[in-house]
Amino acid sequence: KTAVVLYTSDLRVHDHPPLRAALAACDRVVPLFVRDRAVERAGFAVPNRLAFLADCLADLDASLRGRGGRLVLRSGEVVDEVCAVVREAGAGEVHLAAGVSGYAQARERRLREALRSQGCALHAHDAVVTAVAPGALLPGGRGSDHFAVFTPYLRRWSALPPRPVAGAPRAVRVPEDIGSEEPPRRSRVTGTSPGLAPGGEGEARRLLTRWLRSGIARYEDAHDDLAADATSRLSPHLHFGTLSPVEAAERARTAGGPGAEAFVRQLCWRDFHHQVLAARPAAAARDYRARHDRWRTGRAAEEEVLAWKEGRTGYPVVDAAMRQLRHEGWMHNRGRLLAASFLAKTLYADWRTGARHFLDLLVDGDLANNQLNWQWMAGTGTDTRPNRVLNPVRQGLRYDPDGRYVHRWVPELAGLAAPRVHEPWRLPAAERARYDYPAPVVDLSEAQARFQEARRHP
Ligand code: FAD
Repeated sequence: KTAVVLYTSDLRVHDHPPLRAALAACDRVVPLFVRDRAVERAGFAVPNRLAFLADCLADLDASLRGRGGRLVLRSGEVVDEVCAVVREAGAGEVHLAAGVSGYAQARERRLREALRSQGCALHAHDAVVTAVAPGALLPGGRGSDHFAVFTPYLRRWSALPPRPVAGAPRAVRVPEDIGSEEPPRRSRVTGTSPGLAPGGEGEARRLLTRWLRSGIARYEDAHDDLAADATSRLSPHLHFGTLSPVEAAERARTAGGPGAEAFVRQLCWRDFHHQVLAARPAAAARDYRARHDRWRTGRAAEEEVLAWKEGRTGYPVVDAAMRQLRHEGWMHNRGRLLAASFLAKTLYADWRTGARHFLDLLVDGDLANNQLNWQWMAGTGTDTRPNRVLNPVRQGLRYDPDGRYVHRWVPELAGLAAPRVHEPWRLPAAERARYDYPAPVVDLSEAQARFQEARRHP
């Protein structure tokens, strides 16, 4: 008997329920990845993620080869390609990770129908992309299909016994006559960020081990310190599934301590946003809760948004964060928070413009995490304090007290010590002129008044 395992956001061999189930049921398995034209058409296949994906596919292929198998790669419309491989291999079942986004859910439905007409069964496995399946926890009450508030979700999520972590299979037998395309190469992808991290399951596992050994202990105290860079940087691996969230949580819990607890809580945030998106796929593009339609438009707003994208707003900590994004394809969480607040609240520009820019560059760019964190910051989503505005000067003083983060990413200000580095416009004119750095694009108190006025009359 032969099964097909369709890989999507789960590019690993460790702790992979679809692969294990296929191997338990069948003696031959086709591990398949389809470069999906629909994902490309949607503009989701951007250079940073394509380059990281190339690493992941190469690593997955090598892991499977080490077990006597290989990865089969195709490109086209995903349903057509899976059906074609099923026919070629004479497969009786297809296994995949259950999808979360609207697109992934629709893909699963279309695939199920198409396979049924070929007499082939589809098995969608839960807790592969997330630690807890969306929909597995419900708040109770009539008609509630997801949690809209984090803390009660966290409580229930933490009390749930995790599914056991599975190791990697020893052997994978792939039918010989199934053709595969050449794997993409990272070096062929142009337009990537110069500081982009390497991808692949091997790298993810090394990073996790190093993180548990020498990073997690200081996580609770240092995770918000912009310059300390004291977070795990596992987000791209969780996004591409080169690391299992169930295994990451399990190994962190075993490591123990307050850092581990804080880290596992962040994994819960990830599941929280995924379960919101699974229940409300439209929230990827539309306001989730509060509706705000009066975002600023027009020439002045466009120019300010452009300054934000290019890291020249004149607010050093915002500019540092935006430049980190462009240089690494990644940004510190505190940077994401204050950059998003600046766009959606200080500039009062539509959060979708900012979210799109993030998705164009982030290597961990993820529909659930990105869109719903943006909505959180824009005050349209699940935040319980939607009118809170993060002041970029106070954020800088608090989370970059000695200015090291600004100095790293805004070298024009490297000679200016903290705390003045967070307010260069306050320098005496002669000294100010020494720094080739722009004046603020907007006055903070005027922006605050504009925000309050807009929120009074939504
Ligand atoms: P750690 O602090 O080490 O956290 C561990 C893991 O927990 C992360 O890898 C991530 O998977 C998860 N996590 C942490 N914080 C959050 C959070 N607030 N929401 C959901 N999951 C979280 N994360 C993405 O993975 N993809 C995105 O596209 C994305 N866009 C964001 C946009 C905005 C405006 C904001 C405010 C946050 C966004 N985040 C996103 C969440 C968070 O900033 C990143 O997950 C985190 O910075 C990644 O770094 P890390 O792996 O070192 O995180």
